[in-house]
Amino acid sequence: MKRFLLLCTIGMAVTSFIQNLARKSAAAQLHDDPRVARVLDILRSSASATTEEQIRITEIPAPSFQEATRAAYLKKLLSAAGLRVETDATGNVIGEWAGSSPDIVMVTAHLDTVFPAGTDVHVKREGGRLLAPGISDNGTGLAALLAVARAFREAKIKTKMTILFVANVGEEGEGNLHGVRALVDTYKKHLKYVIALDGAATDYVTTAGLASRRMEVSIEGPGGHSWSDFGLPNPIHALGRGIARFVVARIPEVPRTSFNVGEIEGGTSVNSIPSRASMKVDLRSESETELNKLEGLLREAMKSGVDEEMAAARERGMAGSTSLLDLKIGILGVRPSGELPENSPLLAALLAADSQLGNRSRRERSSTDANIPLSLGIPAISLGAGGRSGGAHTLDEWYDPAGRELGLQRVALTVLGVAGLEP
Ligand SMILES: [Zn+2]
Repeated sequence: MKRFLLLCTIGMAVTSFIQNLARKSAAAQLHDDPRVARVLDILRSSASATTEEQIRITEIPAPSFQEATRAAYLKKLLSAAGLRVETDATGNVIGEWAGSSPDIVMVTAHLDTVFPAGTDVHVKREGGRLLAPGISDNGTGLAALLAVARAFREAKIKTKMTILFVANVGEEGEGNLHGVRALVDTYKKHLKYVIALDGAATDYVTTAGLASRRMEVSIEGPGGHSWSDFGLPNPIHALGRGIARFVVARIPEVPRTSFNVGEIEGGTSVNSIPSRASMKVDLRSESETELNKLEGLLREAMKSGVDEEMAAARERGMAGSTSLLDLKIGILGVRPSGELPENSPLLAALLAADSQLGNRSRRERSSTDANIPLSLGIPAISLGAGGRSGGAHTLDEWYDPAGRELGLQRVALTVLGVAGLEP
């Protein structure tokens, strides 16, 4: 038994030694290949053209579920970059870079923004900064997708794995990752790695998915006149009572967990008892168990809020059989969680890219396109594509392209690190 354990230990040590060696030699191969040096050069020298492209992309409105015009533009540009491009039934634009193997690395950036149709997306310049809703999230990722594909072509790169450059739909909010869900479903047989490009930051890499759940709560009641029907159960009052109970929920610091009542609606006028009130709530956690608990707390709190409002109506003698409140709680979207294994070649490729470029990055957990592949055990990360940004998901979003080549080069080296070069 002891001998067996010893042999196992030696065996594991040898395997990890060989894996490390293989990784180092793959990284060294990238380091020494003149075509890769050319890719890095191109990404540096074309950085300002990439920024101009980012502006053009950002100025095409693309709310979730209304990405078609921006998608068509990306399709045109990916085709011009020499890829075979198609749009799938979901609306994703898929550009194929054929490798010598059917195995796939998917590089993907989401097309959609959180801003509703009609939002002014004209890009303004202030000093070195660009200002517009969606300029960084995800103008940066989309511009990087194109820049990397163009650089690979210009440098005559040949890869082992097939690379799919994908502009996907429905990442944000109620899009609920439906674009990437469809992609993973279509390509899962050969899909080895997914690299999502989202936003700008290069000081971290997302290697774990954050589980989230979006809930909608609605309460309906009889409605009436604020004076003559006073005492009838009021859906807004019930909602308020429920919220007051829910937001005092005790949540753990570890695993980190959060909640947010993000939208609230209801009523028709100040002097009417409303017949309807509703809200949308975002629940997140590093742990599915905590998320389940939190959903349970929300349901309990809302039920108690409704009960309390009904009790108040009864006290006022206004709670007949026709004056009940009807509570409905539904799930708008679910994002599963998952984690990139420590020994994944994808993490090794990213770390090698960081070390080659002298970049330092910490690992983060977040809710991105990488959630879906990670939840299915497919190695995935989400990367910022360079430059600096702030105010994501607000009308004051900004992007500063200074130094963006670092992010572009980091993406390119990571992709090549997992795809592998053919001579
Ligand atoms: Zn994004």
